Amino acid sequence: MSWALGALLFAATVAGAPAAAPPPAASMAQDPAARVVFPASVSQGAMVIGKVPPGSRVRHGGRELRVTAYGSVVFGVGRDATAPLQVEVERPDGGRERIAIGVTPRDWPVEEVRGVPPRTVDPPPEVAARIAREAAQVGAARALDDARADFAQAFIWPVAGRLSGRFGNQRIYNGKPGSPHSGMDIAAPAGTPVKAPAAGVVTLAAADFYITGGTLIIDHGHGISSNFLHLSRIDVKVGDRIAQGQVVAAVGATGRATGPHLHWGMNWFDVRIDPLLVLERAKLAARSAAVALDGPHVVLQGAGNESPRPARLADFAATLRRCLENRGLTLATTLINEPVIVLREGGEELELVMPAEIGAYVFWPGRKPGEAMGYPLIDGRPQAMARELAQRYFEGPPCPVSG
Ligand SMILES: [Zn+2]
Repeated sequence: MSWALGALLFAATVAGAPAAAPPPAASMAQDPAARVVFPASVSQGAMVIGKVPPGSRVRHGGRELRVTAYGSVVFGVGRDATAPLQVEVERPDGGRERIAIGVTPRDWPVEEVRGVPPRTVDPPPEVAARIAREAAQVGAARALDDARADFAQAFIWPVAGRLSGRFGNQRIYNGKPGSPHSGMDIAAPAGTPVKAPAAGVVTLAAADFYITGGTLIIDHGHGISSNFLHLSRIDVKVGDRIAQGQVVAAVGATGRATGPHLHWGMNWFDVRIDPLLVLERAKLAARSAAVALDGPHVVLQGAGNESPRPARLADFAATLRRCLENRGLTLATTLINEPVIVLREGGEELELVMPAEIGAYVFWPGRKPGEAMGYPLIDGRPQAMARELAQRYFEGPPCPVSG
């Protein structure tokens, strides 16, 4: 059994479960680099970031996903997606896994929008060619698959303001049913500066599209893009590299709009996703432990619980620390109680959904085999496990500590 499969089984069975025997270390040693991490379930409209061994090939939604040097992959979940989502992973050693991810359905209320310019609801036939041409430009911008991993940043709001329209709502414009709302609307006065919610590259900047008015698309890499509509002003041009927080445009009411607001949409290629979920993911990540991988880290999860288990976790960490110090390395320890941690290495962020309530997770900088291993310490032998882990990582003699 691979470690990744063990992690999945562990995730499925351990929460709140009675004492379970830890997986034998020997079985984990067979394939120490095989680390495949995806959430067990996701919401419709979500952006999903997963982790695979670097060099893997990953398929989802009829696409081969680009994999970063660190093994991050991303995909979007459509508004009408149904469970299970399938992800196929082919590891560098040729081993294959198929991961099934649950989908949480959402409600999509009907929303009436009155007072939009009638010409944008029932465009006259003579503008059909123009609308098609502009849609093709948008489609081409969204089709790009850039290697940058800006999507892994913690996104920020592009303008401050009231949420005036939600993603996915079934829209009725001037009494006529239209498409579901493709993004989120933020109420803000005309002229309010629009900031880039994450870094990226400008792939479309159009002052006056027929339906969407002033239109800007920023590419965040791997098919993830942001679009901003109804703008009164655009301050950047196609090809510009944009930093997170940089002012790129100004709020307006151009195109099919009843008044000034910022429409912010996000896509994974042609799949529309919900920016609000991307912001919530960033908020969750900010509350959880962020671990910068400048050295070996052991993340102890659930260590704040009122139970005898934290003592085992602390024991594990102390033993591992002594092992590493004997080899001239410093171990950092992070205690978390959230189900998510964020790893940062070389500017790249990776969210990991922790598969257990109680456990120790060891992360190493770089991509050495055995860089990340998890140990359920429900009923483990913490010191033996820590010594064995350190020994395996260094492929050297047993860790010389007593106890
Ligand atoms: Zn909108």
